Amino acid sequence: QTVSQYLKNHIRTVPDWPAPGVQFRDITPLLQNPKVFRVLIDAFVHRYMDPALRPDVVAGLDARGFILGSVIAYELNVGFVPVRKKGKLPFTTVQETYELEYGSATVELHTDAVKPGDRVLLIDDLIATGGTMMAGKKLLEKLGAVVTEGAAIVDLPELGGSQKLIAAGLPLFTLLDFA
Ligand code: 5GP
Repeated sequence: QTVSQYLKNHIRTVPDWPAPGVQFRDITPLLQNPKVFRVLIDAFVHRYMDPALRPDVVAGLDARGFILGSVIAYELNVGFVPVRKKGKLPFTTVQETYELEYGSATVELHTDAVKPGDRVLLIDDLIATGGTMMAGKKLLEKLGAVVTEGAAIVDLPELGGSQKLIAAGLPLFTLLDFA
């Protein structure tokens, strides 16, 4: 059995949540089982331990990207920075607003979170339309950092987000897909 299939077997699909017609891919079972959690984190750590891919900083997207990103950063012995939903960060921030299906969302990053030229790994649990990860990339670039790769557990390729991000010049690493 591949790592991808093993991990996929521990994702729970919840129909009609948070809205009718949505199949929510719930990653909490991956975190709950210590053996599965270790396989999950190690899949990322092994890739980014490679000196050619090792980032200076890991940035996690609110909120499930924090769970993954902080553990990965710790294992790589690099710092972790949170990209947060608007209104949560106390110090000066840069902001980026992006469109959702209904309305818009704003994300923020502390202005001293990264330095110009820092190589940043940007991580979240899942890529759907790609809007969240694109906003995170723009925030980090506003501060002069270079987002060397975007990473997630799950890609939903039919929503086109991963293609859009790659077209925008962001290499992506995802562990599994749901068609
Ligand atoms: P996007 O911005 O790519 O459209 O949506 C991705 C963001 O929404 C991520 O931050 C992710 O956590 C959340 N998200 C959207 N759909 C799902 C889903 O089915 N499962 C999980 N775990 N997160 C989702």
